[in-house]
Amino acid sequence: MTTTTTAGTPYPRLEDEQPRDYGMFIGGQWVQAASGETIDVITPIDRTKVIARTPRGRAEDADKAVRAARDAFPAWAALPFAERQRALLRIADDLEPLVEDLARLTALDTGNALRTQARPEAGLLVSTFRYFAGLAGEVKGVTLPTGSEALSYTRRLPLGVVAGILPWNSPLMIAAFKLPAALVSGNTVVLKAAEDAPLTILELAAVCERHLPPGVLNVVTGYGAEVGEALVVHEGVDKVSFTGSTATGSGVASLAGRRLAHVSLELGGKSPCIVFPDSDTDEVVEQVLLATRFARQGQSCTSGSRLFLHEDVHDSFLDKLVARVSRLKVGDPREESSDIGCIINERQWQRVQGYIEDGLAQDGVGVAYDGRPALTVGEPGFYHAPMILTQVSNDWRIAREEIFGPVLSVLRWRDEDDVVRMANDSHYGLAAFVFARDLGAAMRTAHRIESGWVQVNQGGGQQPGQSYGGMKASGQGREFSLEGMLEGFTQIQQINVRLG
Ligand code: NAD
Repeated sequence: MTTTTTAGTPYPRLEDEQPRDYGMFIGGQWVQAASGETIDVITPIDRTKVIARTPRGRAEDADKAVRAARDAFPAWAALPFAERQRALLRIADDLEPLVEDLARLTALDTGNALRTQARPEAGLLVSTFRYFAGLAGEVKGVTLPTGSEALSYTRRLPLGVVAGILPWNSPLMIAAFKLPAALVSGNTVVLKAAEDAPLTILELAAVCERHLPPGVLNVVTGYGAEVGEALVVHEGVDKVSFTGSTATGSGVASLAGRRLAHVSLELGGKSPCIVFPDSDTDEVVEQVLLATRFARQGQSCTSGSRLFLHEDVHDSFLDKLVARVSRLKVGDPREESSDIGCIINERQWQRVQGYIEDGLAQDGVGVAYDGRPALTVGEPGFYHAPMILTQVSNDWRIAREEIFGPVLSVLRWRDEDDVVRMANDSHYGLAAFVFARDLGAAMRTAHRIESGWVQVNQGGGQQPGQSYGGMKASGQGREFSLEGMLEGFTQIQQINVRLG
């Protein structure tokens, strides 16, 4: 049996007889947990298959990683920006030929289907490294025109050590939101990979290793309550950038707040998707399908999981949507033909069932589509067909809580003010979708929605450079953009000089 603790190609495959033993990446070394304990990584494609083992990091390991990042910080922060830029561009160049391999590993690790999700996600990682490399010189201050007797200017400085805590649903994409922006602005980083899907993050570190000095990037693995929380409370961590559920994020924010660490939070959502009566077309159906994130098993924080259909087109739009959804193929995420892959694990799969049962138990609920009978659900992978429930009331749990599964709640509306009120009647405020050919109605509605990201007449299409983040309980702070980088990963120092 050959084992290695170093990430690197060829990547694990389902067919491998032995699981790959991974190390964590700390201070430029691949190391096991101080305790020697490991966590089995089970692929969502086959519940019986352990594809890898990763270290079960705890406080001692978090401490090592933070110390390594602290030691590396002064030299990294002091580099001319063009050198950090070069490092990011080289990482992007090395990642590019690996996109297909990383996409396949994403499919194995997360269950996300190769064509619809895993490949675009791996591609986005490359373009995001390039995008932020291009912004390296924008980490700069301003000069106040105080006259010839004084010089008054600001410097943009990195925060220090950033702990980036990642979820399992799209690890490479979320790492892309945090890592290049934090690095290029002069911070050093400790990433905490999600215990359910850590492998692509470790492989990303193996590429970064070639271009970053030891300690500039560290990756720890393990459970959130152990190694994750140890990072949040560590005095050596200047900023916690967290992506995950609202419940966990709120706990993370309060712990980090006690020691006044910087915090940004990208949390859950229950996003409205509003269709106006002039938009009962096949093209809109395609875009609404994208918005449902069925192709990601609904495991997307920006899923438009509350579909508001105007009563004039409710039935005909729904018929078209159901016809389209019934043609989606749920299958092995590694296969090109699969539109929808697997839910991450048994616990999440059961959670989705719980919501479906709760929805079906409500008075007056309708079922427009239930793909489950056509599937041998759950054997041996955690497959789950989409479900569309109708006549949903905005105060039912399936309309209020984030299901994070392929379940769409359909609500009927008549009046513009009323649909805006219902859309905003949620403690979440991450994304929203508005479909109307009448641009006045579309823009009026978009501007009234309390969400951090509103898309008009499109269901997907995130671009590096756009501000990304939530309002209300969906989070604090923005990522993925110039302003997100400056606000999220830098601080201002004011210098006043008396001349003469
Ligand atoms: P989660 O909150 O359970 O875990 C997220 C990460 O936090 C994991 O790495 C986990 O190990 C870690 N963690 C757990 N407890 C911790 C603690 N006490 N201290 C520090 N770290 C801890 O979320 P998840 O189940 O992995 O991901 C799904 C959730 O993430 C959904 O609610 C989804 O909406 C959200 N999400 C949000 C965005 C966004 O950009 N807004 C993107 C993706 C996912």
